[in-house]
Order: sequence, then C-alpha cells, then structure tokens
Amino acid sequence: MIIVLKPHPAPEVVEHVLERIAALGLTPHLSQGVSRTIIGVIGDEAKLQVQPLQAIPGVEQVVPILKPFKLASREFHPEDSVFTVKGVQVGGGRLAVIAGPCAIESESLLFEVAERVRRAGANLLRGGAFKPRTSPYSFQGLGQDGLKILRAAGDHFGMAVVTEVMDPRQVEVVDRYADILQVGARNMQNFDLLKECGRTRMPVLLKRGLSATVRDLLMSAEYILSEGNRQVILCERGIRTFEDSTRNTLDLSVVPNIQGQSHLPIVVDPSHATGRPDLIPAMARAAIAAGADGIHVEVHSCPEKALSDGPQALVPDQFDRLMDEIRPLAELLGRSIDVCAGEPAACAPC
Ligand code: PEP
Ligand code: MN
Repeated sequence: MIIVLKPHPAPEVVEHVLERIAALGLTPHLSQGVSRTIIGVIGDEAKLQVQPLQAIPGVEQVVPILKPFKLASREFHPEDSVFTVKGVQVGGGRLAVIAGPCAIESESLLFEVAERVRRAGANLLRGGAFKPRTSPYSFQGLGQDGLKILRAAGDHFGMAVVTEVMDPRQVEVVDRYADILQVGARNMQNFDLLKECGRTRMPVLLKRGLSATVRDLLMSAEYILSEGNRQVILCERGIRTFEDSTRNTLDLSVVPNIQGQSHLPIVVDPSHATGRPDLIPAMARAAIAAGADGIHVEVHSCPEKALSDGPQALVPDQFDRLMDEIRPLAELLGRSIDVCAGEPAACAPC
C-alpha cells in the first residue's frame, strides 16, 4: 500500500500515520521529497483499511497494491480452476453448454426441451424453480415441485442440473435436488446467500449483477470461496447501459479481463445479455472466440407461451443450428465439448 500525503505535511501528520502503521505490526517506508511525502507499507495489507486511513487529515490518497480479492486471484491460484460435474468438465479447455428453459413450467415442457438440448449437444440442463421476477404478479416458479421435475429430467437424460437459489433459506432444499446452484444477477450481492452457498460443497454459477463491476463480481466470488467452497463458475449476462435496443449490454471484454485476474472459469449468457434470439448465436460464437469456458442459453419449445423470458428463448431447431456452428469453432480453437455420460433412460417420463 502506498499512502500519499498532501503537499508540505505537518510533522505531526507524518508521525501520526507512521504510528498507525507501526501499531499494526507493519513496516512503514518513508520517502520525503521537497514538497511530497509518500509512505510505503509492506506486510499484510488486509490489516490496513484504505478508508479509515483516507479519513486522516493530511492524507491525500491511499493506493492499495494488492487486489481486494485473494482466493479468487491468479496470484493465489495461478492455474485455471477446473471442476467436473457429473462427468462434465468445466474449465480447462472444455466448453460447458448450459441450456434449458428460463423456468420449469411443467414436466412435459422440461422433458421436451431437455431431450432436444441434450440431443443437440448441451451438457448441463438449466431451469428455474424459484424465479426472480420484476413484478410480484408474474409467474414466480413452481418452487420445490419444480426442483423435483428438474431432478427427474436430469436423471432421465443423464444431465447435471443447474437452478437458481434466491434466498439463504432455500439453499438446503435446492442443494438436495440440484448439481449446480445458480446465484442470479439480482442476488450477486446478497452476501448472506453467497456465504450460505459457500458453506455447501456444490459448484456455484455466479451471475454478474446488473450494474456490477468486474471487481464487484470477483468480491462476490470471494464470499463463496472464503467459506471453503472452491467451485465457483462466473457468468457474464450483460450489464445495464444506456443502450435500449438490447435487453442488456454484453460485456465480452470481461472474459479475457477476468481470466487475467482470476483462475475461475467464466461462461457467457447471451440470452439475458441480448434478450434477442436473432443476436444470441452471434454472441455465443463471439463468447467462445473470446475464450469463454462455456455458454448459457435459454431454450423453449413454444416461446410465445413461455411463462418467463419467452421473447429471448431459442426454439430447439435454432439451438440445433447454434450447436452446429459452435462445434467447428470450438475445434478450431482447440476446445472440446464434453458429452453427458450414459444414454438417456429408456422409459418415458410419467
Ligand atoms: C435466469 O437465468 O433465468 C436469470 C433470471 O438470469 P439473471 O439472473 O442473469 O437475470
Ligand atoms: Mn431467464
């Protein structure tokens, strides 16, 4: 940390700052020029909080050298983090293809979509049972009944399943049915939820908040990691900007940006990022070209009847085409797409 004092500081100010640093067992290094005084601090920066130091009259600026996130950083863990969920590898050159409807609406819809996306090459099945809706009058999800349907579809088609958890009190029940816990954009800074997810040993798909910076996202990941859960998958799903011709603005630079700073895998959700089926395939391809560890796409067999996010859903035929475009691209880039282990169960759902 570097502490820059205001020009011509009074000797008492310099003394006061030096005392504060020494009291914490850290070593200050004083550098006094003609008008400027700079104090360098070596040691555990976490002991010195930037904001209180900045409050000392006579201090102009406090510049941290280390990143505020530790466990999520590449300095801490230089190798890419790689996890395996039911035989599907996330990170390490494999592409996670997470697909399914926005919400679990019924057993028949979920089985129909799951069958199609699996056949097309998706390797993780998604579907929301607890839905974070802008309006309290909109469909809120089927809750635990939805989780049961999701689990049944996952087992039937041999796919690991991803579903959102919105509240720390739901973690226990979602943990019982899901293979990956999703923390949605609106809950990215629900710190109690992050801590609760961190106490499980389930992989967590952490979506970027609507107006979260890269640092905010990584600090939220840090909450999960610091509870001992090392399986965090980040997800870029678009951020709010002034642009209103798309639902959100896809920030693709975040992929190499995060990969430079963090070892955690990152996937891209072009569905929520654009809100437009006509743009989803191009943005999915771009995400993969940018180095993303996977994509997250909403698929519905009849978008006009969908109870949530219908306008942005791809129909299964469109998803087939998207997968046909992605396969050669992945190959060109030296990445591969794990296929779900085993054959789908033979019996039809009842
Ligand atoms: C979702 O995945 O259906 C969802 C609600 O996403 P987000 O949290 O990114 O809006
Ligand atoms: Mn959705």
